[in-house]
Amino acid sequence: MDNILTYLLQLPSGYIWLIFLTENILITFGVLFIGSFFYKGRYSTKDWYLCAVTNVLNTVVTFAGYRLWEHQYIVIDTHFSWWMLPHFIILFLAMDLLMFVFHIIIHKTFLYKAVHMLHHEAVDPSPIDLFVLHPVEALGFGSLWLLLLLIYPFNIYGIIIYLVVNVIFGLIGHLGMEPLPSAMLQWPGIRYLGTSTFHHNHHQDIRYNFGFYTSIWDRIFRTYKQQPPSY
Ligand SMILES: [Zn+2]
Ligand SMILES: [Zn+2]
Repeated sequence: MDNILTYLLQLPSGYIWLIFLTENILITFGVLFIGSFFYKGRYSTKDWYLCAVTNVLNTVVTFAGYRLWEHQYIVIDTHFSWWMLPHFIILFLAMDLLMFVFHIIIHKTFLYKAVHMLHHEAVDPSPIDLFVLHPVEALGFGSLWLLLLLIYPFNIYGIIIYLVVNVIFGLIGHLGMEPLPSAMLQWPGIRYLGTSTFHHNHHQDIRYNFGFYTSIWDRIFRTYKQQPPSY
């Protein structure tokens, strides 16, 4: 891992941009490819356009994170150690809380009409909706992520696990169907997680389910709703 990071430091900025943009595009096509096994509809030109803009903005966030790391404002522990697991869990829970608060703010203020309503044009979300975001929203989520990395020197492997899990949850929330049998949704390990049904319910009734990875905060603040959505 150290070798990869040292290699990046030697490259001109333009190359690093290109590497990060390629990485974001590959993630997007990975999501859309897996999503195509579950969602059979077609995407509109507007969806593709907004998806492309989000990819560029996610690259801006990745590049900003890289620059902050290069100038040592963000410090990353690059050792392969067991700390990766607690660090992953901390990142998972902290980002879940930060995004819950951010999500409530963009729903309950003028920001809903100005920013977040765009994502809610999809009452029945599909995989591309993970990237159908207003630019302010895409940068807002990215800033929360960088803020967390600025606070503490997290382990790089914990960060990588978190980033993979983040994409998986984003895809699950916008699958357009529930892949899990209804009985399984009640299993102790799954009950408190943000399932497809959980986020689909949010798209169908915007008063409920503001969480992303877990339903913990919605349960605490009494905004939790779990019922089979009308797909
Ligand atoms: Zn929302
Ligand atoms: Zn959504």
